[in-house]
Parts: sequence; structure tokens; C-alpha cells
Amino acid sequence: MINIAIDGPSGAGKSTIAKIIAKKMGITYLDTGAMYRTVALYVVNQGKNPSSEEDVVPLLKEIQISYIKVGDDNRICLNGKDVSEDIRHHEISKYASEVSKIPEVRAFLVEKQREIAKNNDVVLDGRDITSHVLPDTKYKFYLTASPEERAKRRYSELVQKGQQVEYEKILTDIKDRDYNDMNRKVSPLVKTPDSVEIDSTKMSLEEVADTIMSYIDSINNRDKLPDTKNASLQVLRKEAKELNIDANKEIKKKTKKKGGFYRFLAAFVRKVMGIIWPTKIYFKDNFPQNTKAIVVCNHYTALDPCVIISKLLGKNGKVLMKDEIMKNPVVAKVATELGCIPVKRGEADIAAVKNILSALSKNQPVLIFPEGTRNRSGSKEMLPLKQGVATFAIKAKAPIVPLLYYKKTGPFKRNKLIVGAPFYLDEFYDKKANSVKEEATQLIEDKMKQLRAELDILVEKCRGNKKKYFKYVKEHSKELM
Ligand code: C5P
Repeated sequence: MINIAIDGPSGAGKSTIAKIIAKKMGITYLDTGAMYRTVALYVVNQGKNPSSEEDVVPLLKEIQISYIKVGDDNRICLNGKDVSEDIRHHEISKYASEVSKIPEVRAFLVEKQREIAKNNDVVLDGRDITSHVLPDTKYKFYLTASPEERAKRRYSELVQKGQQVEYEKILTDIKDRDYNDMNRKVSPLVKTPDSVEIDSTKMSLEEVADTIMSYIDSINNRDKLPDTKNASLQVLRKEAKELNIDANKEIKKKTKKKGGFYRFLAAFVRKVMGIIWPTKIYFKDNFPQNTKAIVVCNHYTALDPCVIISKLLGKNGKVLMKDEIMKNPVVAKVATELGCIPVKRGEADIAAVKNILSALSKNQPVLIFPEGTRNRSGSKEMLPLKQGVATFAIKAKAPIVPLLYYKKTGPFKRNKLIVGAPFYLDEFYDKKANSVKEEATQLIEDKMKQLRAELDILVEKCRGNKKKYFKYVKEHSKELM
């Protein structure tokens, strides 16, 4: 089946483009946003609150979503009634964004989307198609445009439909929805590293559609290249030339040696690390997938990075480590395979800075221990934080993912680790990073303290029982604020 996935923020033109692509290729178009809107419409029609899980979840079993074809159009029906117009009302956009945060709603709709994609050639647009609904498809696009341009487009569209709206309000709503979509805990909007990003701010619809079509062609052509096992380099070059694709790049990819001793060793180390130190991880779902992030954690022993590399960071992740570990050539090679970025301590290491920013620009998570050294005393309080994390997070506009170990332990002794909700330092983006380093670092420190309080409640008062923990937080929410 051909499954073309297009993700991107609200108003980037995804649905218009997806319709054009579907028409050009003679395949179906599935607007996944319309599904979230339909759920939201049903919820508000029942007089219920779209942000309340308790209100929304029981209604899901009453919702039947289906489609009818009218001309080229796929009309969406809610319990048999065509609601394609009703779901487009501006207010419904906000409610859709609210219901989309609820894990049960997502699971309910993702199952339907996967089912449709399994049985049909289809173009799907949404927020989590490339990262979650169809992570294995080879056609992945991330369509974006500046918030102002997107607000302008949405404003004209609504005015044309006769709705009375204000541009400023639309712009604020778009920014709010971006924030909601990019920061929700389940399947946030991200650009996956393997998606082709297209910024449509200064492009016409035709230009965007043509760009996507040419990428689809080149992806198809790439697959026609024979395997190097069976073809000489000359044959590959000739074929690549005929197919009009970058021969050298593709040949390099096809001939790249897999494996290698150190890569094997690194894979082994990754596996073993998880066993040597059995660590219970709370709220693992908070850890964002396929996106740039600065991961910060308290630091007690040399094994701290191991669990995080093994269980959370994935193969794409990077870890800042002191450069002394690179003295031993074997350790250096394995560490490099494990994503280590060596840093010279006590001086401005330009190469390390470049490596960190480059990893973030490639949507890789980077683990930094902001205390700068191990807290040998094992105290619950962290040592004073260095200011580098704030600088990177502001410069790269990356979310910070706070992690916290419960205590200092050794190998084979159980430990606990909590993953906090990612947060941005966006209130500092418009200011010069140098002038706000202190304030931003204080904010990170406060978040780490808050996380310590959460972890302590979870472990000490609720014995790791998450249900008990949520109940506790509900009952004590005022005191905890
Ligand atoms: O794309 P559209 O603006 O119609 O989507 C409405 C809302 O549904 C979005 O703001 C987003 O919160 C949610 N959505 C989602 N995942 C998708 C598609 C839409 O969370 N795959």
C-alpha cells in the first residue's frame, strides 16, 4: 500500500496539499484532524467539557465515524450524519486540540487511521502520522509556515465563509494550538528526522505540491536502484544518472558497511547497562520521541548516563561527557558509538558547543548533567547548576526534559528515575541569552526541585503506586502549588 504521511502545525496548508497529492496520484485522502474535530463536536453537543477526560472518555463508545463520497470529496459523518461543515467552525478547532490531549481519544482514532491505511492507498495529514500512526512509511513530509502566514491564510478562509473573526485572535489561537500540539504528553507534533521539511511561507500551493511530488518520485526511483551485492559501482552510477538522482549520495548509503566491531560493542554495552542497573522509570511517556531535546539529570555516579542511554535516549541520542574518557582509544570508539560528545571542562569548548547545537538541529536529544560534576555526597539537593543548559535551550529553542534519580546507589542495586514533563524556556527567546542565563537557570533549578518533590511523594508516600500518587496529588494540589 502507498501511505503518504504529512504532518505539520495548524494552518500550514496540509489538507489542501494532501488533497492535491491524492488527486494527482488517484488515491484516497484522509484528514485525521477532521476525526479529532468530530469527536470534539460530539462532546460539546452533549454539553460536556472537551478538556475533561472524565467527560470525554465514556462518550467514545457512542461515536461512529464514517465517510461518504460526494464527487471528489470524502465527507465525514458522525453517527451517520454529514458534519463536514459543522466541524470547521473556529471554536471547534480549540476543542479538537483539547480532546486530542486525551490518550484514550488518540488510541481510539489512531486505530481507525491505521486500519484505513492498511487497506487503502492513502495520503494522511495530521500531527502524529510520521511519528506515531505510520512510523514505517517511506513517504514522510513535514509542512510548515510562519505563524503569521498561517493566521493570514486561516483568516481569509473564514472571512470568505462569512464567519466574523479577528486576525489577532486567530494568530493567538494558532500560537496556542501550536503550543498545545507540540507540548502534549501523548504523540506531540514533531518533525521526525526522516521527514522532508517544506516551509511553505513563500511558496504557492502548486509549488508545494510539485515539490512533494518530486520527492515521491525520487523516493520511488531510489528504491529502483539495484543492491550493490548484485551490481558494480559503474552500473549503479549509470542507473542513478538515468533516474536523475544524486548518485554519490545513494551509492554511499547503499554501500555503507553495516555493523563494525565498535558498533557491535556499543550495542552490547547498551543492552548490558540496562541489566547491570535495574532502574524503575516513572512516567517514561513524558520522554519525547524523534525530536530535539535537552535532557537534564542529577548526577551521582558514573553509571548515571548508562541507564538513560540504554532506556531513554535511543540510538539517535547524544551525551555530554568529560573528554578524559576519550584518552583510552577503545573506550573512545565505543563512547563515540554511544553518542558521546566530549567536553573539556573549565574552558569554553567551541567544538563541543558546535556538536551540541548540530545534534539539536538534527532533532537529536542531548543529555547534559547540569551540575557539571558528580554529587559525591549523595544528597537529595542538587549542586548549583551550570548555566550552559539554559543557553543551549534558548539558542536551539529546544524543550528541556528533566530527569531525576531517587538516590545514589551502585550497580545491581535497584534505583528509581522519574521523567518530568518537558518544558520550554520560551519566555526568554526574545531576550539575549547572556542576559537571562541566571534567571533561566533558576527556572530549571525550580523545575528540578519540583520533580524531587514529585518523586519523593511517589516513592515515600505512595510506594511507587501511580494511582495512589495521582489521588494524593489531587487531594493535596493546593499545598503542592
Ligand atoms: O488539522 P486540524 O486543524 O483540523 O486538527 C484539529 C486538531 O486536532 C489539531 O489542533 C490537533 O490538536 C488535533 N490533531 C491531532 N493529531 C492529528 C490531527 C489533528 O492531535 N493527527
